[in-house]
Amino acid sequence: MSFKTYFQKDMYDILNSEKVKGLQLEKLRLRMQHFYVKSLLIKIVLDAMDIVPSEITMEQFRKAVPIRLQREAAESGASMVSDDANIVDQLASLTGEDPQNFKLLCSTSGTTGDPSPYFFTEEDLEYAAQGFSRGLYLLNNGDEEKIKQLRVLQGFALSMVGAGLPAVETFIRLGIPVIPVGAEGGTEKIFYFTEKFGANFLFCTPSLAEYMLDTQPDRSKSLGLNRIMCGAEPGAGIPELREKIQTGFNCKLCDAMGLVWGVMFVSCDEDEYQGMHFLSDDLAIVELVDPDSHAHIPFENGAIGQIVLTPLVGSMPPIRVSSGDIVQVFTDPCKCGAPGWRMKVIGRSDDMLKVKGVVVYPAAIDGVITGFAPRVTGAFKILLEEPPPRVSPPLKMKVEYSEEINEAEISSLSKEIENEMHVKLKVRPQIEMVPPMSIDRATYKTNFFEKLYEDT
Ligand SMILES: [Zn+2]
Repeated sequence: MSFKTYFQKDMYDILNSEKVKGLQLEKLRLRMQHFYVKSLLIKIVLDAMDIVPSEITMEQFRKAVPIRLQREAAESGASMVSDDANIVDQLASLTGEDPQNFKLLCSTSGTTGDPSPYFFTEEDLEYAAQGFSRGLYLLNNGDEEKIKQLRVLQGFALSMVGAGLPAVETFIRLGIPVIPVGAEGGTEKIFYFTEKFGANFLFCTPSLAEYMLDTQPDRSKSLGLNRIMCGAEPGAGIPELREKIQTGFNCKLCDAMGLVWGVMFVSCDEDEYQGMHFLSDDLAIVELVDPDSHAHIPFENGAIGQIVLTPLVGSMPPIRVSSGDIVQVFTDPCKCGAPGWRMKVIGRSDDMLKVKGVVVYPAAIDGVITGFAPRVTGAFKILLEEPPPRVSPPLKMKVEYSEEINEAEISSLSKEIENEMHVKLKVRPQIEMVPPMSIDRATYKTNFFEKLYEDT
């Protein structure tokens, strides 16, 4: 197995074209016919609406198939089997698979709710490698010799999540050496094995990269990395954070999303962030919807909405599943020349805040705070006195000042940050400045909220 086994240049060159859109509908109809026989749920849904699987239109599809969050999608098989069935049997019922065909049984971390299961059959693992190969091709400008030189330090949590063991399996399939330390190993081991095993590509959350930089800046700079690929939370898309990580490690930073169902989003190396290129529109359909009403939002340059994915390959039937991410899409060609429309993640539907009707996401606040470095460390917390999204003004926050400023400057710094947030985000917070390293650091995903209402 190697990169060549999985990468299809013919498809890569026509991504985001009218030809692929035609192919999507063709595939959707074939998949509907296939699952009409195989999955009782799909049969019930289509029969209820009098839809002939081989003739389904995109409009009918959107009407017939409701949007579900990842975990709900897995559970929708439940009604087909007994109440006490385990989730493997539920997914087997939904997909029409023999349970033993699921070769890798994983789930999301559950940081923002219950963990969502996702399982890989052999075919699913093949598609994951296919999608990922396209991302590596884009990042290396098609230079396969460069791809052969990659040596990956896996710094995401290894346990359960898609970026963990499934990603390790994907690197192996693509013929890329991988060092599976995992976030559980701790940053000391990540430093140690990057140095000792000569890794040149770090695969981790931006929180972990930032933590490495904050705690061991000199060692980070001399690691000899060529690239950090981040995911699971906004990183490369926040200009101040991108600058901090790229300068701090003296390497390139990109962000990526996907893997499951062959979905691959990856950002290119343009100086100004252009969003993540979508490199899998033959493998999955992407839609945008309103986060509250789930109404369809036309897919136009600059449109903002909640992202919904429909797999067109692998074991999952063509259901509409959302990770809850709120994104902006860019359909005009990218300056880098790579194919695929792009998207920028601006928040998650479950971390959205509304302050006097103004919508604000922690990722946007993160950008403003990081812009005040080196006077701040970059760490902050949003104090919530009631369950989100509603926030009674003012929005209360704790922000860490750094060791680089003296006490007399602290209160004017907090005023400066409050003003900057008012200008950039239209929200004027009330900030309490706190000493360096007094806020807990995450090495997996940063939790921006302190939920005061849960303590009372
Ligand atoms: Zn680009």
